[in-house]
Amino acid sequence: MSRYFLTTAIDYVNSKPHLGTAYEKVCADVIARYKRLCGFDTRFLMGNDEHSQNVYKKAIELGLEPRAYCDQMEVEFRNAWRHLDVSFDDFIRTTEARHKAGVTELARRLYEAGDIYEGVYEGWYCVSCEEFKQERDLVDGNCPLHPTLKPEWIREKNFFFRLSKYQMPLLDHFAAHPSFLEPDIRRNEILRLVEGGLQDISVSRAGQSWGIPLPWDPSSVVYVWFDALINYASAVGLGQHADMMEKWWPADLHIVGKDITRFHAVFWPAMLMGAGLPLPRHVFGHGFMTIDGQRMSKTLGTIIDPIEAANRLGVDPLRLYLVKEIAFGGDGDFSWKRYDERYNVDLANNLGNLVSRVSAMAHRYRQGRLRPAGAPADTLARLGEQAAADYRQAMDRFALHEGAAAAFRIVDGANEFIAATAPWTLAKDPASADRLTQVLYDAAEAIRLAAVLLHPIMPASTREILRRVGAESEHLELDWDGQWRNEGDRILLQDGPLWPRKEQTIVSDNDTKTQSALASTPTVAAGAGATPPLPAPPAPPAQSDAAGGAADGRISIDDFMKVELRVAKVLTAERVEKSKKLVKLSVDVGVEQRTLVAGIAEAYEPEALVGKTVVIVFNLKPAKLMGIESNGMVLAASPDGGKPTLVSFEQPPPPGTRVR
Ligand SMILES: [Zn+2]
Repeated sequence: MSRYFLTTAIDYVNSKPHLGTAYEKVCADVIARYKRLCGFDTRFLMGNDEHSQNVYKKAIELGLEPRAYCDQMEVEFRNAWRHLDVSFDDFIRTTEARHKAGVTELARRLYEAGDIYEGVYEGWYCVSCEEFKQERDLVDGNCPLHPTLKPEWIREKNFFFRLSKYQMPLLDHFAAHPSFLEPDIRRNEILRLVEGGLQDISVSRAGQSWGIPLPWDPSSVVYVWFDALINYASAVGLGQHADMMEKWWPADLHIVGKDITRFHAVFWPAMLMGAGLPLPRHVFGHGFMTIDGQRMSKTLGTIIDPIEAANRLGVDPLRLYLVKEIAFGGDGDFSWKRYDERYNVDLANNLGNLVSRVSAMAHRYRQGRLRPAGAPADTLARLGEQAAADYRQAMDRFALHEGAAAAFRIVDGANEFIAATAPWTLAKDPASADRLTQVLYDAAEAIRLAAVLLHPIMPASTREILRRVGAESEHLELDWDGQWRNEGDRILLQDGPLWPRKEQTIVSDNDTKTQSALASTPTVAAGAGATPPLPAPPAPPAQSDAAGGAADGRISIDDFMKVELRVAKVLTAERVEKSKKLVKLSVDVGVEQRTLVAGIAEAYEPEALVGKTVVIVFNLKPAKLMGIESNGMVLAASPDGGKPTLVSFEQPPPPGTRVR
């Protein structure tokens, strides 16, 4: 079995993980899970970067020993990653003995090779970046990333690494390995940088105690950046376990933020070359995340806690958003509003609804048991196979968003397939029995295949989906499980909605936190004045007169109860020809399927209505509209001059439920 070793950047522990850090870890996790799905012996490394002066200062501020503070933060970070279902195999801390062994080994090799020499560093240093800055890096004399912080002018004895020596070897490596650094935008940036010439870099700091001492001069510690990069190799045994190093080094993939690509695509490979070690196969520099278009920052109040985001709609909905809505490699934006919208569109209305519909139909028509009754539907099976191939192709080049989109093409295809084959019509004709069985089997197969492809992105919910469509959910293998299959019995399970629709939310302007609102009943307007909702507890029957109506127009409870309101689920929807307003719907009302016509075409696209749960007047006399017999009326609020809004539920009850 071939192996795959991937890493994320290790994090400074002077603040808690935020959504931006989580983004990197989730994307890396998706790749790790994808590689496992492909059958690779995968090792996924994450960790914490502890030898930072900022970490040291933070600990002192809190009155803690630095090591004790780092212990606390380790718990914090590990819990966050566990909560987000990030499946790391190893977690390294740079204060561990194995890391010290790796750093000592690598530094010694470079020193012995003559790549490290003693000198005096004099120049600017940004304490917050913990980086030496060249004059040309500064903006108005300040660090561009920390414009409010004066860089310090430092003059101290330092040891330097001969980075300049590696300009040509690096350029040669880039030329020989075009996919060494991705995406192209980063590669081009770094190539320009290397072509412009490289200066030797300082790799030690004098007079500090928090760090790993230089093996040949313990009065200095290894500079935190030099130290941090080595974690990738020390985690697999550099300086300690030759066998382990032999198996896992070089890394297949380093996933890092675009701000630190330079360290990983210039310094790190040069250090490895100097130490006589092979170079990682790929470095991928992902983009940054903004919040509502703004940079994530404490002062702007745009720091989002990933746990809070996951708790709002679920871990998998958050993971899906991060992967599907942001092109991996580019910058992306997160907003609570869009997060809710995508949840409703992709999960509640699309995938979740598909799973519920198919298992409901399988139960209604086939007691939940399906087995192939003929050949699979050609178009759907081909769409599935093509999407699976596209998915693989995309995931192999880290285009995670395209992989997610390919899987969702199967979901869309299955929804269209159901609308086109109309199982509820087939069910009326005994001669179509086999065809109905096959249609349901095909739909369930499409769900299974989509769930397998989405598994790396939404591990827990795809397992649940696979369970519901009666398919294997453990030990998935893409070569086998990623194929369209028309064999085997499936027992489908019916259960509550996977992702209940999230109804309207209110987002305040100056706060990115949201509150879910409108948990109560939607308003129904009969004609003009929008008046209170459906089932307000009725007042005791009052002086109703013989005609059933009081003098002020109010009706009795008995009168109200004559109107039979029921929950209905839209199965199909199409525009009524030559009408701007009318949509023809077929709905499931529990006991039967009905056709009705509703004047909501200006507010709803027919496709968007399929799968929606609505309320209808069940016992209305049939009426003909544009030549179509309408059996019932859909309830909607119709504000003056506005478009109608359908009455809906926070958690849709089953079709046929009485509303009162
Ligand atoms: Zn800075």
